[in-house]
Amino acid sequence: MNRRAFLTTSTTALAGTLFVPTTSHALDLTQAPLPYAPEALEPHIDALTMNIHFGKHHTAYITKLGDALKTAGITNTDAIGLVSDLKALPAASQTAIRNNGGGHVNHTWFWKWMAPAGSGPTGPEGKLGDAIQSTFTSIDDFKKLFGEAGVKRFGSGWAWLIVTKDGKLKITSTPNQDNPLMKGIVDDADLGTPILGLDVWEHAYYLKYQNKRPDYIAAWWNVVNWAEVAKGYAAAKV
Ligand code: MN
Repeated sequence: MNRRAFLTTSTTALAGTLFVPTTSHALDLTQAPLPYAPEALEPHIDALTMNIHFGKHHTAYITKLGDALKTAGITNTDAIGLVSDLKALPAASQTAIRNNGGGHVNHTWFWKWMAPAGSGPTGPEGKLGDAIQSTFTSIDDFKKLFGEAGVKRFGSGWAWLIVTKDGKLKITSTPNQDNPLMKGIVDDADLGTPILGLDVWEHAYYLKYQNKRPDYIAAWWNVVNWAEVAKGYAAAKV
């Protein structure tokens, strides 16, 4: 299978399940392969960062999530369902599942929200493009606000573009490995279906960009997989 065919197959397999928290086994404890080579996002995201980020950080979240579930005697391994309703879990297991379940879910999304520069649309098109323009005035204004959400996140966390339950686009940010599906953790107004997210943990950029988080964010726009974001928007709007 060539890379294009693989990319198409893998994203198709993920679409339609990832964004439905109630689907059992929507995201279990297996790590899907990267949908591109680790060096494919160069020069914007370097191969060493990708290898460590995917092969060490993401893998560790899955291992620790498995450990936490085992300790708590929880047999449900649907990570999206678990992090969406953390308060339903035994109190002693909530923090570990929040951190490591969030880490697993967020990174699974993050890999598919990126693609090699030039491999697809260079910006939001169609209904997604129209919605971004009408919500944020322009694509550039959206990028500015989203980037600011990432820059201003103190310490580690994520910037998000979500579709709220009333179908509106909104930019939010969460600390650590929290995400916009986490009822009872995230403010109700900031709950929604994430259709794009940016990892601003130092592990995502420090080897290449050191302390210059704004430079990382500026470069990251070159590798956003806008086709995937549009697919997520369409699914979330149903
Ligand atoms: Mn990360």
